[in-house]
Amino acid sequence: MKNQCQSCGMPMKGDAAIAGTESNGRKSALYCHYCYQDGVFTQPDFSVEQMQQFCISKMKEQGFPALLAWLSARQIPKLKRWSSPRS
Ligand SMILES: [Zn+2]
Repeated sequence: MKNQCQSCGMPMKGDAAIAGTESNGRKSALYCHYCYQDGVFTQPDFSVEQMQQFCISKMKEQGFPALLAWLSARQIPKLKRWSSPRS
């Protein structure tokens, strides 16, 4: 299991504070708290393209170079939330 959010790709390694929460209050091993709280996605209607745009704008806000933001967003479709079980 990669230590990154399986929705937005944010690194979660060794940082329990960043983990999302399940409906029973336990930490999610898969998703960060930006994406997942109390057992539900915070942006349930996002398409993968919307998530990519969202992450790029967030990273730019935090001062990341556009290229780095784009490279990071490019991996999002491979994450568990977005990968089709049929493929
Ligand atoms: Zn996330």
